[in-house]
Amino acid sequence: MTEQLDPAALDPHVRARAIMEGTTRDLSYPPSPEALTVPVYDNHTHLEIADGENPLHYREHLDRASAVGVRGVVQVGTDVLTSRWSAAVAAREPRVLAAVALHPNEAPELAESGELDAALAVIDELAAQPRVVAIGETGLDYFRTEPGRGRDAQLAAFEAHIAIAKKHGLALQIHDRDAHDDIVATLLRVGAPERTVFHCFSGDAELARVLAENGWYASFAGTVTFKNAANLREALEVMPRQLVLVETDAPFLTPHPFRGRPNGPYLMPHTVRAMADHLGTDVPTLCALIASNTEQVYGTWDAQQVTAPGDPWAGPDEVPGSPSELAAAAQAAAVDAADAGSPDHHPGPDYPGER
Ligand SMILES: [Zn+2]
Repeated sequence: MTEQLDPAALDPHVRARAIMEGTTRDLSYPPSPEALTVPVYDNHTHLEIADGENPLHYREHLDRASAVGVRGVVQVGTDVLTSRWSAAVAAREPRVLAAVALHPNEAPELAESGELDAALAVIDELAAQPRVVAIGETGLDYFRTEPGRGRDAQLAAFEAHIAIAKKHGLALQIHDRDAHDDIVATLLRVGAPERTVFHCFSGDAELARVLAENGWYASFAGTVTFKNAANLREALEVMPRQLVLVETDAPFLTPHPFRGRPNGPYLMPHTVRAMADHLGTDVPTLCALIASNTEQVYGTWDAQQVTAPGDPWAGPDEVPGSPSELAAAAQAAAVDAADAGSPDHHPGPDYPGER
């Protein structure tokens, strides 16, 4: 299965992972796991990124998730278009809250073309919308970006996002790839928002201690289930239980035993069970704790009512996410991906076989 998928065929998704990566992965969705008896939340997912032979409608993703005890998700934007889409879905779908930001891998190009300030202004605007509960994902990505102007742009964008989170009293979701020290230094220098989450925590026990000291949250993804990720499990042991969250970062980072296949919020039970197993705690207790921690960070999913009309998937053209707009975006993304190589939004360290 090496053929590239036609972006137009993937409409109406905003992005398509298979196009970004062009890998020889198994592109079938894994079966649903046994349901959790106590529900949890997926606090970081990208439902707009199509993956698999048959990309799932976001509502199908949510239905599968509900059926296995994943009660709600935080849908995360990575640029202006996907942030708008995230806010639009959250305004219409009770199981979705939104995070909005410009991904650190987007910042250098935006700065280069003089568009960074305007894009940040859009994020600031979206941050004021109901059911937008976090600024993210933002941070630093030294895996993708070399020292120099690109990293300067990332840092400027990161600081601007921190300021937006504080201005609106929102949580911050951090993308940290090979940049632990500078992320921590920046947070300490400018002052972290009250609720700060290291999305797809990728550090070791030492970084976990820094998070613990500062009251920052570690969100564990499917990587914590990988055989070669003992450092993440050590970090999990070190984290105070009230600062632990879970996420999928779908469609990336599918948990063991389905690593490499398309991911969705409905596969999170694998991650939660592996974490409970490693901690020697029972799964319902860990789920209750994680659900409570998640609500501490983002509030409850019904705190602000869903009010907006229409379906952002098949709605009228003024709703972000109309098929025509997203098809055009998918085409553009495919061209960008071909130009720049894989945008590769998920954080490291590298897990061989994942990409
Ligand atoms: Zn992500």
